[in-house]
Amino acid sequence: MTNEQILKKAIEKAVKGGYSKSQAKAFYEVLEEFSDSPATNKCFVIALIFSHDFAKHFWGEDWVCDCCGEKSCWEGNTQCNRYRNAGVLTLWEFQLQQMILKAEPLQYLVQFLNEQAIAKAEGGDK
Ligand SMILES: [Zn+2]
Repeated sequence: MTNEQILKKAIEKAVKGGYSKSQAKAFYEVLEEFSDSPATNKCFVIALIFSHDFAKHFWGEDWVCDCCGEKSCWEGNTQCNRYRNAGVLTLWEFQLQQMILKAEPLQYLVQFLNEQAIAKAEGGDK
């Protein structure tokens, strides 16, 4: 996927998760306005994907283990060997912490954009 495709799919997923459609539209308008300035565009994209509002709707607010990021950690159903001492975070907080360490944060989103991941986020298995 190109960065443009990743961005488009990521925004679609966040909107499905309740992110404001008008905010998404405003974002595209700003991006269009600065289309001749790749560096400025990149700044806008980074600002969007790291915004708490966007992340909440992209990943959701389920509680997860702050060590491994899994919900099932409390059930002992995990490889995480710190689960007994680990705290909790919301999933979006956990994922933002992971993404900040990536050289290409937009690429980090790809793993959450396949159809199965989207179905899971919507609460179905099919
Ligand atoms: Zn864990």
